Amino acid sequence: MIKRTLIEIQQMIEDAELFGPGEQRITGVQTDSRNIQEGCLFIPLVGEHFNGHDFVAQAIEKGASAALWQEDQGQPPEGIPLVRVQDTLLALQQLAASYRRQHQARVIGVTGSNGKTTTKDLVAAILETTYHVHKTDGNYNNHIGLPLTILSMDEKVEMAVLEMGMSGRGEIELLSELAQPEAAIITNIGEAHLLQLGSREEIARAKLEILSRMKPDGLFVFPGDEPLIRSLFDQEEHAALKYISFGESTENDLYPISMMQEEASTLFMLNTHGLSAYRIPLLGKHNVINAIAAIAVCKYMGVSEKDVVRGLKQAKITGMRIEKLQKESGLTILNDCYNASPASMKAAIELVSEMPGYRHKGVVLGDMLELGEKENEYHREIGQILDPKKIDWVYTFGPLAEYIAEEASNRYPLEAVQCFASKQHLIEALQAKADKDTIVLVKGSRGMKLEEVIDGIK
Ligand code: ATP
Ligand code: MG
Repeated sequence: MIKRTLIEIQQMIEDAELFGPGEQRITGVQTDSRNIQEGCLFIPLVGEHFNGHDFVAQAIEKGASAALWQEDQGQPPEGIPLVRVQDTLLALQQLAASYRRQHQARVIGVTGSNGKTTTKDLVAAILETTYHVHKTDGNYNNHIGLPLTILSMDEKVEMAVLEMGMSGRGEIELLSELAQPEAAIITNIGEAHLLQLGSREEIARAKLEILSRMKPDGLFVFPGDEPLIRSLFDQEEHAALKYISFGESTENDLYPISMMQEEASTLFMLNTHGLSAYRIPLLGKHNVINAIAAIAVCKYMGVSEKDVVRGLKQAKITGMRIEKLQKESGLTILNDCYNASPASMKAAIELVSEMPGYRHKGVVLGDMLELGEKENEYHREIGQILDPKKIDWVYTFGPLAEYIAEEASNRYPLEAVQCFASKQHLIEALQAKADKDTIVLVKGSRGMKLEEVIDGIK
């Protein structure tokens, strides 16, 4: 993590003023007074519910070496080494940007509507075979999480893999400016945040902001099957950039030529790179596609073919993303309750549809939230792709998911489609289906908390 003297900290932030001993050293930064590490710099942020300035004295008591102080927040407590700034959030970002510029690490930025965390974890797993790697912890991917991730990077780090999230225009540009990536991946363009952005085109533009501050002759890895990227990406503006497209179709630079689903992993081969077979400890075609993007970047970063294979095989992925569970009753559950958007819903349905070894298959689908005006339509589309030959029954939970059921009921027998408003009733209905020949996919937006249903099943 960052190690600097207070005078150096002051110089890294615009219009900052030092109150206290300039030679005082800080190690790391912290914005949460409950998690103070000895010797850190405490950065009080002004939030909706809390004001970090109320906790500055407490942070120092717990071992922080110094704190920032926002000038409009009144008198600071006495006797504390402080750097006074105009805005503590801006100061956090400037500190991170400055640290990044002083740091040798080569940075890989990962953005997209779905699959960022997974792809970030896969890239890091491959790079770790060869380099000293730092990566975004969990989902720390926004205007606060990303600077904190940068500042937690050790001096000796050679490669940093940074997840960049957004919910509106301008955010990725800011994150890209802080991170200055040499390589960027856009995983896909989906419908997440449609409510805030209005159209898929605007979403694509927002993701493409990642190019605005990256190394001009760096590498851009993009989903070639997404026409919006191809149409909006201005090659003349980025003449020196190298680019690689990936995806299912053979039009791409990189695509899978074979895929085999195993018990808890997937084996695949690529159109290039000789005869290597890659195994990922993940299920689903969408994860093969994520892995292909990761391979592209890691090859460019100089990892050998042998180490790419080894790194993918041993990758550890942040939890709750398509997890296979077996209940005492024998029922197999594909837990994908972490979140849902149309693209990830379709990917998960395809996965369970193709899963070998089960006589009965069902889905429990909850509302997909924050989709804006066309939310009903997006739910209907999900109902339309459900195939009675592949999925035997469809249970929905929530008012929007009823549109899924409505579409599905055009093709399914009456009793195979049911809408639930109570989680307890849903649990009971699933319990009645539970046996060792049955698999069920459970998926919905975070706000639907469908894991409560999974927890309720014996
Ligand atoms: P968040 O916006 O919450 O940070 P994320 O982009 O980091 O999400 P992941 O956490 O990697 O995405 O995956 C979330 C879910 O998205 C997974 O459980 C899976 O269902 C789905 N998903 C992952 N990759 C893809 C993909 N390439 N295309 C479609 N859906 C995907
Ligand atoms: Mg994520």
